[in-house]
Amino acid sequence: MIHWNHDQNGRDWEGLCKTGKSQSPIELSKRSSEHKRLPNLNFQNYFEHFGKPSVLKNTGYSCSFKIGKTRFSENLEVSGADLKGTYIAEELHFHWGSMVSKGAEHIINGRRYDVEIHVVHRRSIYNTMQEAILHPDGLAVLAIMIRIPDYRESGNYTDARHRDIHRNLTTLGDLAPHSHKRFLIAPPSIEEFLRLLIRIREYHSTTLVHPAVTVGIILKKLEIHNFYSYHGSLTTPDCQESVHWIVFREPLIVKLNPIFNIFLLRNVDRKNVLNNFRVSQPIYNRKIIYNI
Ligand SMILES: [Zn+2]
Repeated sequence: MIHWNHDQNGRDWEGLCKTGKSQSPIELSKRSSEHKRLPNLNFQNYFEHFGKPSVLKNTGYSCSFKIGKTRFSENLEVSGADLKGTYIAEELHFHWGSMVSKGAEHIINGRRYDVEIHVVHRRSIYNTMQEAILHPDGLAVLAIMIRIPDYRESGNYTDARHRDIHRNLTTLGDLAPHSHKRFLIAPPSIEEFLRLLIRIREYHSTTLVHPAVTVGIILKKLEIHNFYSYHGSLTTPDCQESVHWIVFREPLIVKLNPIFNIFLLRNVDRKNVLNNFRVSQPIYNRKIIYNI
């Protein structure tokens, strides 16, 4: 599909998205999964600095952070658990809702979280993403939930929103084009990383992120032994069924202020990118493992 959008959260997508029997996302629960103790996940180089600045891009569907090689020219890799081999990290992006709705893709024990991060990997035996996507074992995606405790639950959301817009504008001034600050910030946390989104508000805009940022800032606070594992698909067209999903059960807690930048990204029609998640898909006879 060339032209597609999230207006109906994927209900109108064609082809494999419509006919596939191993589609994602799905609803996950302890009750409907097989409990198992899998080997540990092994992360290589996730806390290493990059060799050069990374590109953060507004794709019109999400914001995408390109994961390159480390300063020692090595890949970021994950293996272990029930993964069939070694998988190389390629890219990470986000799915979200709106100022009044939650937008994670996988449902965990009946709950939809606010935001979901996808760290996309290709199996090392395949040379490119295009090649990997053609194989059932081509990709591995780590899914990480974000919960925003001061969002909606505070009941004072509008005030927070206005405060935030004001703060963003102030920061934007500091980050005016050609300012040295554009390049010198190495985000030490997921919150600081999200602040960079003010630089890519416009469709197809990009910014460079300091090489000292690590993907490990996401994993640092995560309970990495607590996850679901199953076989599924990409959650955007063409929905290829080439993904080994590892969905972490416990969310990261992130404050509203930095997350707010994500709601201000604009798409090709200059509208805010909102609710860019796909609705849950039938499980059919797939086996879902819950790692204990
Ligand atoms: Zn995704």
